[in-house]
Amino acid sequence: VCTTDLCVRAEEALKGNGVDIITSNGVKAIEGTEKAESVLLQSGERIKCSMVIVGIGVAPNVKLAKDAGLEIGPTGGIKVDEFQRTVDPDIFAVGDCAEKYSFFNGLPVPVRLASVATREGKIAAANIFQPQWRNIGTIGAFSTVVADTAIAMAGLTDAKAQEIGFETVIGEAEAASKHPGTMPEAHPMRVRLTFDRRSGKIIGGCACCTHTVGEVVNMITAAIVNEMTMEQIAMFPMGTHPWLTASPLAYQFTDAASNALHQVKKTVKS
Ligand SMILES: Cc1cc2nc3c(=O)[nH]c(=O)nc-3n(C[C@H](O)[C@H](O)[C@H](O)COP(=O)(O)OP(=O)(O)OC[C@H]3O[C@@H](n4cnc5c(N)ncnc54)[C@H](O)[C@@H]3O)c2cc1C
Repeated sequence: VCTTDLCVRAEEALKGNGVDIITSNGVKAIEGTEKAESVLLQSGERIKCSMVIVGIGVAPNVKLAKDAGLEIGPTGGIKVDEFQRTVDPDIFAVGDCAEKYSFFNGLPVPVRLASVATREGKIAAANIFQPQWRNIGTIGAFSTVVADTAIAMAGLTDAKAQEIGFETVIGEAEAASKHPGTMPEAHPMRVRLTFDRRSGKIIGGCACCTHTVGEVVNMITAAIVNEMTMEQIAMFPMGTHPWLTASPLAYQFTDAASNALHQVKKTVKS
């Protein structure tokens, strides 16, 4: 789901708060008599505990839809068209139980988020009497907080972009979240944007800061939806305020695009 650098930051934030992270292992058993007391790992190691929180993803429960004769898509969601109609045009499906299709290549993607579900609900409601609103596809934008580090990302990770055939250019920029950077509560904010080298269009991005970056990633999503290019983002006419935003001289979103542009120009020259 996340780019490697965001995973590393999340990992560092957790470790900094005394959380042990164990990878390349598995849970063999949760042990205890009346309540969870320990977890037995595949490696044979046993970890004592008083509580177990399981986070292993979700799968749609589509039994009702199957029983009604509706078709199910490859990621396990109810198959829908761009108007959120199932194979029975009188039945609509939205949210986690409905199949999603990528904004980038139209293929099914297992992105299950409240923001996606809400938008699909609006689309379905608009189309009940006649098809009006089309679903342009799922981009997948999310934000979260790990300890005191807020991380957010939208669109394709570099790895996913390359997997589906994009040649990528990455632009990065880091600057204080307020200006000047000596302002109280100013924190370093890093923005990383992924572009398609051929078209120059933005296809993904992420942001990381101790402050919230939720709206930065929504700005990245708006740029993706509108297929903005490196040049257009580099020249984005942002508004700034010392207490509220980064400096116009070091605005992470535009500077990351400029950074990507420089890389493309360097490659063309050499
Ligand atoms: C821990 C956690 C954190 C999350 N954080 C975020 C986040 O920060 N941002 C984000 O965008 N998304 C987040 N999500 C995902 C988000 O919650 C889901 O994508 C979203 O709730 C999906 O909405 P939905 O309406 O499709 O399904 P749901 O919210 O699951 O609603 C389905 C409803 O249908 C009811 N129902 C089921 N079967 C029947 C039946 N047979 N008859 C009648 N009612 C039925 C259920 O009881 C439920 O109330 C999070 C999910 C989890 C689990």
